Amino acid sequence: GAARLLVIGGGFGGASAARFARTQYPELQVTLVEPLTRFVTCPYGNLLLGGYRQIGDITHSYDGLRAAGIRILHDWAEGIDAAGKRVRLRGGETLAYDKLILSPGIAIRYGALPGYDEAAAQALPHAWVPGDGSQTLLLRRQLEAMEDGGVVGISIPANPFRCPPGPYERISMIAAYLKRHKPRSKVLALDAKDAFSKQGLFQDGWKALYGDMVEWVPASKDGKVARVDPAAKVFETEFGERHRLAVGNVIPPQSAARIVLDSGLAAQTGWAEVDPRTLASRAAPDIHIIGDANNGAPMPKSGYIANSTAKQAVASAVAALRGEAPPEAVYFNTCYSHVGDDYGISIVGIFRPGPNGFVEVPNSGGVSPRGDLPEQRRLEAIHADTWYASITRDMFG
Ligand code: FAD
Repeated sequence: GAARLLVIGGGFGGASAARFARTQYPELQVTLVEPLTRFVTCPYGNLLLGGYRQIGDITHSYDGLRAAGIRILHDWAEGIDAAGKRVRLRGGETLAYDKLILSPGIAIRYGALPGYDEAAAQALPHAWVPGDGSQTLLLRRQLEAMEDGGVVGISIPANPFRCPPGPYERISMIAAYLKRHKPRSKVLALDAKDAFSKQGLFQDGWKALYGDMVEWVPASKDGKVARVDPAAKVFETEFGERHRLAVGNVIPPQSAARIVLDSGLAAQTGWAEVDPRTLASRAAPDIHIIGDANNGAPMPKSGYIANSTAKQAVASAVAALRGEAPPEAVYFNTCYSHVGDDYGISIVGIFRPGPNGFVEVPNSGGVSPRGDLPEQRRLEAIHADTWYASITRDMFG
């Protein structure tokens, strides 16, 4: 019969892989396992916080993939038998595969930041995983409910984490909301690092658009949050300073998703090691692990990279089934960020397999130019919107 390609996770990596497989290799039988019936993206969730988007704008259905001939099971994968090439679902079914594409994203490491457990996420939302949108909406409602003059705290983790520029776009979008509706308020961003993606560009934008409404505190200036108190809404730093907040957003430490850890596919680091040419797991060669769950450094954990690696993983899996060599690999990334009204910035990187993992192609990428460049910023905001429209089309049809 037809070769069976099983995809676990219907997010940026998994939906991209399923649709690419279906359209490029019509002879394959493609099955996708994803518990969500509607997928609310993390990208553009920050724009919802800023008031630039509504929840419907960032919600996607699986009808297009189903119509394309992909079998979709709304269930959880609960166990992977790599030797027997079988996956057990929570609903009881067992699926056999010839090749498995695994793209389940991240897990939040509850407890890694003292005080931050699953219950704490109701008082101090993370809004850092896709789902039904409830976390992002909760954070938005807290911003709407706070009084003018309050402090919105954001706790930012050490590397590696999902979406390197994401916390800083969030600072920007929350500041944009406050500037418009609660101008005596401020954003206090406490960081476990001393440097971040597109730092100069973000800081230029904050200064120009929000003045001293935004304060970013690096680890070296006691920015690292060491514990949180959800009941009192307090972030306590490494050196004991207690910041009382009107609204607190905790972007917590992360690992690969549960299924990766439980199946023994993660290394000590909490992320999966893969062959940079094919994304095949170092622990199980018939399982390709794509998206945020793998250790793709120096590639960022981005939706763009999840999509780019999805295609290489599918093409490599098919090549292996045909007894052919994998195609030559190249991975593209662009991360756009919105800083304010008509104000976009970006970072580009191109990556290839190297002798010991992924390497960035020298002189291939870069960031937007600095300076007072309103037309450049306006155009990049449009490019960002176009990117979102095109990648979600590429994922969901
Ligand atoms: P996901 O997209 O999270 O998909 C994983 C899917 O797997 C989920 O739908 C989940 O339900 C499912 N799943 C998990 N476990 C199981 C299981 N056991 N069985 C079945 N299904 C399972 N990236 C960009 O490129 N550009 C941006 O502008 C951008 N902005 C961002 C803004 C924010 C606020 C955040 C948080 C992230 C942003 N990202 C952006 C990053 C992007 O969201 C991630 O890199 C991307 O989602 C990773 O794709 P993935 O397939 O690994 O995981």
